Parts: sequence; structure tokens; C-alpha cells
Amino acid sequence: MVREIGHFIGGKRVDGASGRFGDVFNPATGEVQARVSLATRAETARAIDAAERALPEWSAMNPQRRARVMFKFLELVQKDMDNLARMLSSEHGKILPDARGDIQRGIEVIEFACGIPHLQKCEYTEQAGPGIDVYSMRQPLGVCAGITPFNFPAMIPMWMWGVAIACGNTFVNKPSEKDPSVPLRLAELMMEAGLPEGVLNVVNGDKDAVDAIIEDSRVKAISFVGSSDIAQYIYANGAARNKRVQCFGGAKNHLIVLPDADMENVVNNLIGSAYGSAGERCMATPVAVPVGEKAADTLVKMLKPRVESLRIGPSMSEDSDLGPLVTAAHKKRIEGYIQMAVDEGQKLVVDGRGFKLQGYESGFFLGGTLLDGAKPGHKSYNDEIFGPVLQIVRAKNFEEAIALPSKHQYGNGVAIFTRNGDAAREFVRKVDVGMVGVNVPIPVPVAYHSFGGWKRSGFGDTNQYGPEGVRFWTKVKTVTSRWPDDVQGAEFVIPTMG
Ligand code: NAD
Repeated sequence: MVREIGHFIGGKRVDGASGRFGDVFNPATGEVQARVSLATRAETARAIDAAERALPEWSAMNPQRRARVMFKFLELVQKDMDNLARMLSSEHGKILPDARGDIQRGIEVIEFACGIPHLQKCEYTEQAGPGIDVYSMRQPLGVCAGITPFNFPAMIPMWMWGVAIACGNTFVNKPSEKDPSVPLRLAELMMEAGLPEGVLNVVNGDKDAVDAIIEDSRVKAISFVGSSDIAQYIYANGAARNKRVQCFGGAKNHLIVLPDADMENVVNNLIGSAYGSAGERCMATPVAVPVGEKAADTLVKMLKPRVESLRIGPSMSEDSDLGPLVTAAHKKRIEGYIQMAVDEGQKLVVDGRGFKLQGYESGFFLGGTLLDGAKPGHKSYNDEIFGPVLQIVRAKNFEEAIALPSKHQYGNGVAIFTRNGDAAREFVRKVDVGMVGVNVPIPVPVAYHSFGGWKRSGFGDTNQYGPEGVRFWTKVKTVTSRWPDDVQGAEFVIPTMG
């Protein structure tokens, strides 16, 4: 009998009642290790009820007391780190050190959220007119929701509810059904940290739960991270109901290599950013763009033995470079893209298909794959593959290297490797992508800046976490007040400060 995973509503774990389940695999062995209940609309509404009940008290609590819960949570999550990392690895498949990194990047957003008493302060203008003062306040929105993907089951929920809750909102998280255990455990730790019941709820489910969230008028804001078609669906339907919505989608990040770059350094950076976490990162670099034939030939020659010698191991391994993919279906999809690239005329320099790990023959492993000669117009280049596959696109010159990521449908991240400051500066200024790295392969902004891609990587105009996160999870009220309240004459003209 496999373990059943339910929900976290009103401060405690509750069993699912829908009778519908999703399989949770151990990607290293291929076994079903648990099944997660997929919530009905009524169960989702119960989580929203709990969040609604908790709202008056939580939103009225002073920000320093809200921050104290966050501080306590940091302590508890550090103590639980090993347990959380193992749980995360066993459902996602990423190697243990990378699972710790996933949790750590979430922790950093909570550290930022601990500063909420300062971050939520607003503006004040004394004597804007005779006896008139004007000030603004950032108030919480109310009940908010976050719909999160499988690839960062710790970090992305914390990106969202870490800031939303600190701002005085209450929250419903709908995590990925592929790896639901960590978001539930984080909610449990928030309760231990002193969060009142109902402030943070976790509902597991699929489209039914998401639609229930979109259609419930009590939910005032939705943050989504996942693939672009779903991002667009949630953005369009949430915004049509006048909710505040931000949706982050897929990616195809390019790493530009100028001929003056140190090739050894480029290869070290590329190998980690393209193949780490088996390429299942929205900020991975699945495309390398060497400028000029000489740089391209050198890069491919140097990459080949490194890709062939990647250490692929089980999820719990401390000393592998990458683990298995999340599901067999995802692995099959990636293999399909490798064949598509070959059919499109790309050269298969290293083929990861057929890789088997001894003792783990049923695991969802795929070897590192390297393809040379991808071009705009190739579907395998235009689409996100989301696996351990690196495609080389050869650019003739600098202009072509800027145009490639700028014209691509996705605009999440991009990086340039060079020693030339002029070229780097021009690239940063002109490239049509939301997050840029200069000699940094994965430019995920630190917690006190903000994260967000452009084009089909981001729908809505406010980024995740950092100052943009505080803006997203609050609304501005502006007050114009007159003291002393003298008797005024009737005024039929719009008041001006003239
Ligand atoms: P996904 O779109 O399949 O799922 C994301 C969430 O949407 C999950 O909670 C899922 O249950 C829900 N969902 C799935 N189908 C739905 C439907 N038809 N209607 C409503 N909700 C639905 O994404 P995933 O496979 O979990 O994650 C990988 C994707 O996420 C990749 O495209 C990756 O680039 C993207 N991603 C983007 C960022 C970013 O910040 N831009 C970060 C991480 C991941």
C-alpha cells in the first residue's frame, strides 16, 4: 500500500477526499513511492475559507511580530535541512547538494522578508497644501495564491508566500503534483514557528484546483511559475477577473561566448549551468553561442570529453554531477527532442540516450547530450527542452549573437562571457531578455533584487521577491488629510497646488 499525501489546511495536515490521485515517483528507481490526492474544487475552497478566516488577525498584526515568525522559521528550517533535502531529492531527482541549494535560495528570500517592517514603510509629504499632508500606505491584498512548478519545490513556494505572508496576506499554495512533500513540510515548519492557523495553506491538485483558485472572487492575487502555455492561461483568466496576476513561464537561455573569453572558464561554467539539475532549471543554459568559427570549433572540442565524463548518479548521491529526470514521460519527451534535432540537421556530438545506471536500470536517467549546428527555425531550438541537452548555435559576429536571444520567443536569462567591457556593456544594454549575466552563467538575482523574465517567460509586469515582490503583494492607498479641519467654502474647481 503506497503512502498517501493530502493537504495542509487551517494549520494541519488533512487527508484528500477526491478519490483522484497523482503518482509521486522516486526518479532514481522508477518506483511509485507515494500518491498525492488531487483536490476537488470544494477542497480548494476549504483552503481559501481557512485563509479568509485567518486574514483579519494576521493583516492587523504589527509587521515586527510578523517578521518574528519568519525569523523563527529560519531557525527551524536550518535544523530540518537534511530531512528536507532528502525529501526533495527523493521526489525530484536532483542530487542532495543541489537540493540543499534549492532550500537555501528559498531561505534567502525569507531572510529578505524578515525586513518587512522597513520594507513596507511608505511616503509622507508634509504641508502639500495649507494644513494638508499626503501619505501613502502599502496594505496587504487579502487572500493570495501561488501555483508552483516541480523543479524548485522549496525555493519557489518560499519566493511567493515568504514575501506575501510577511506583507500581511494569507495564502494558498498549489504545488506541483510531481513533488508535493516539501511544500507541505515547509507549511508545517511555519506553524511551529508561530504562524496562526490558516495563514498558510497547501492544496495539492491539478487543473481543477487551479481553476477553483482562479474563479474564487476571494482570491485577490495569483503568482504562477511553470510552463508558458499554462502561465498565459492563468494570466488571462485571472486578469479577466480583476485579480493581480504575475505568471512566469518557460525559458531557453543563451550563453554567448566572445572569442576573447577564457575558454577553460567558459567550459567549466557551461558544463555546470547546462547539465546541473539535469537541465531542469528555468535559468539553465541550454544554448551556447560561440562567436566565430574558431571559437565554436574550440568550444565543441573542449566540451565533448567533459560531457562524456559527466558523473550521473542516484538522487541521494553527494558526489554526482546530476541525477535522473523527474518522470519517465519527461525523459521520453526529451529523447524526442534529441531525435528532432538530428532530423533537423544538427550534429549529435554526444548522445545521452540509452544511458543506464548500474543498479538503477528503471530510473529516469538520461546522459548528457551535445548538439552542434542548431539554428533559428529549428523547432528543437525554438522550444524549451528542459533536460541535459546543450545546443550550439554558431554566430558569425557580435550583432548576430545579440540578435539570437533577443529574437527568441523566451526572454528569461542570458549570459555573455568576455574580457571586453565595452562589448559586455553594449550587450547588457541592447539584449531583449529580463536577466543578464556578465561572466556569470546563471544570473538568478539575489533575494533583495527581483527575479523575472520577458516575452513568453513572463506575463504581467511585477517581478518575484525583492522590492518588486513587496509591490506585487501589497496595494497602495494614498491619503490626503487636512488638519486643522477649518470650515471651508464650497469649491467647484479641481483643487490644485498652484
Ligand atoms: P507546469 O506548467 O507543468 O506546472 C506548473 C504548475 O501548473 C503546477 O502546479 C501544475 O500542477 C499546474 N498545472 C499543470 N497543468 C495545468 C493546467 N492545465 N491548468 C492549470 N494548472 C496546471 O510546469 P512544470 O513542469 O511543473 O515546471 C517546469 C516549467 O516551469 C518549465 O517550463 C520551466 O521553465 C518553468 N519554470 C519557470 C521559472 C521562471 O521563473 N520563469 C522557474 C521555474 C520553472
